Amino acid sequence: MDLKAIIRDVPDFPKPGIMFRDIMPLLAHPQGLATIVARFADAFDRVDYIVGIESRGFIIGAPLALQIGCGFVPVRKPNKLPGKVHAIDYSLEYGTDRLEMQAGILAPEAQVLIIDDVIATGGTAAATSRLVEQAGARVAGYGFVVELDFLRGREKLNPAVPIVSLVSYQK
Ligand code: AMP
Repeated sequence: MDLKAIIRDVPDFPKPGIMFRDIMPLLAHPQGLATIVARFADAFDRVDYIVGIESRGFIIGAPLALQIGCGFVPVRKPNKLPGKVHAIDYSLEYGTDRLEMQAGILAPEAQVLIIDDVIATGGTAAATSRLVEQAGARVAGYGFVVELDFLRGREKLNPAVPIVSLVSYQK
């Protein structure tokens, strides 16, 4: 299945100058989500948790956790999660934001696979890595449907940790 052919380019969204890579048509395709999940499941060894980044990381991460047979933990925008949280501020391709994960939700030393739809500048994935490490767990891998190579996001991530992106763009 040619995933790139089904991903839609939306110019000037959400701001002028941004070419948004829209995975919604891929999710809408009858084999789209199954193909994404199968490719990630093939690429990674067993992990203890999928950490999915709000919100498209939830859509991909939850069925991947089912397929792998591991737990699912959401990383969310501020003030969505109840109880004590780990929090981190980070910068985006188009702005800044804050991410939170519940304290005590990951077992200490657990192996974690971080999942999101797109890696752009890498700020979101790097911030999520710091949340996982704050919780005393270990980042064992990263899975992205789309990598925007020209933004060099992977340079913000630990080079010793495997990164799998299913589709990449050079511009
Ligand atoms: P970054 O922190 O710059 O790697 O941005 C990653 C996050 O922003 C991901 O959660 C994406 O959903 C979203 N994002 C950033 N740039 C784009 C883009 N050009 N197309 C689609 N999503 C994007």
